[in-house]
Amino acid sequence: MAIVLAWLIPACAGGAAPPSVLLITIDTLRADHLSGYGNPAPTSPALDAFMRRGTVFRRAFAPASYTAPSHASIFTGLYPSFHTVGPYNGGFAVADGSDTLATLASASGLATGAVISNPVLSRYLGLAAGFDTYDDDLPDHELNRPSGQRDARDAVDKALERLDVMAGGQFFFWLHLQDPHGPYTPERTAERLAGATYADGDLELPVGRDHSGYRAIPHYQRLPPGAASGRVGDYKLRYDAEIAFLDDEIRRLFARLDEDPRLQNTVVVITSDHGEAMGIDDFYFAHSHSVGHGQVHVPLALIGPGVPVGHEVRAEVSTRDIFPTVLGLLDISLPKEPPNGLALLQRTGAGGPMALTPLPSRQSLLAAATGAVSGSGSPVFFESTNQVGVVVDGTLLRRDRFAPDDPAWRFDNPNSQSFWKPLGERARLLPAIGEPPTPGAEGSTQPDATTLESLRGLLDRYEAYAAMAGRLLNRGSGRAAVDPGLAETLRALGYVR
Ligand SMILES: [Zn+2]
Repeated sequence: MAIVLAWLIPACAGGAAPPSVLLITIDTLRADHLSGYGNPAPTSPALDAFMRRGTVFRRAFAPASYTAPSHASIFTGLYPSFHTVGPYNGGFAVADGSDTLATLASASGLATGAVISNPVLSRYLGLAAGFDTYDDDLPDHELNRPSGQRDARDAVDKALERLDVMAGGQFFFWLHLQDPHGPYTPERTAERLAGATYADGDLELPVGRDHSGYRAIPHYQRLPPGAASGRVGDYKLRYDAEIAFLDDEIRRLFARLDEDPRLQNTVVVITSDHGEAMGIDDFYFAHSHSVGHGQVHVPLALIGPGVPVGHEVRAEVSTRDIFPTVLGLLDISLPKEPPNGLALLQRTGAGGPMALTPLPSRQSLLAAATGAVSGSGSPVFFESTNQVGVVVDGTLLRRDRFAPDDPAWRFDNPNSQSFWKPLGERARLLPAIGEPPTPGAEGSTQPDATTLESLRGLLDRYEAYAAMAGRLLNRGSGRAAVDPGLAETLRALGYVR
């Protein structure tokens, strides 16, 4: 009983010591494939139950549909175009000397540690700065992928070992889990998923020649001959089984948090870096080709001392808001100056909500959770290399960043990929919260003309700022010191040329 109560008592209310923070990012996890976000298949009982003990954000959006830029945004509070990684996956690194959650926590004297499971996040990305330990030793090799990775069993084991060392003092710990990322090769299929079906489950797709998933199974998702069909339903169930496996493993971590008295003053943040295409724009089982809803709508929850219990936030938020939220929890001041010379951009862009764009987010998710900030009307942006999008009050607008005949779509452009195709402009009203997930296309409900014009204006201004930031950051001269082996891995994955 005492253990349960410890979660309910606000830590800061009585001048108690600031909590530790455990940040969990789950790669490629669409919000709507968790049962707690509407999946009728019971994929995630442990995650759902744990998230319900805190505040759940129903409309959280990743700043990018790619691993590297999305994590860089979580760690810096900046949208991708405004940090040195940019919207690219593997070409550029977080610059030396950047203020990140880890460098700021470390500078404040906290113990820090990380366990990551995806080679894109290995230390060459630059996020390792500030971490006392950064476990990016990836011993496993998944089907069709030459790069290392690890599954949730190993990652949770490593996290428990490290937490045992850090428990007792204030710490910042990051656990990254990779399981829902393709290829979908779950170690086992959870019995609880038996009988789950999808409306488009009978659609049969050929195996594609590239990794795009455009009207095809992405090449890296192909299964050995005879192992399985190309049925959409089978692939979705394998994706769900990866979530179920992870859910079973992370249960051990949640149990440790409850049982170890040294860990009870800990706030847990759970989110994902991006979703996965499940038929949007006719793309399947891949991500990054667009910023459509299923690729950027991610789960997000805060759980622990000082966080409202059993609370739900419906206002739109960005996972870049994790940056000020975690710093606030840790009682660390936000950096005063925008990084990377962006102060210049800040001066030219004063006034209006867009003034926030080049700056690290200052919107605490706790303020949104407690109602101090409604978040209503504040635009939330997201981008990929080739698309940019915004959501305001339930309306999402996205569009291509290049004209259809732009050479950026060509394969020999290092910032593009041959298999991305121009999609033009798409607008939709978001599905109502609690509505069952819609398979396939994003839906047909169009916003009214006035709303559309307003959103177009926001995207115009975002892109103007992004172009200025690109010149200021001059990424071409500061390319990531990417390890040759990692560069080869990224090429094999189709991420860079
Ligand atoms: Zn990812």
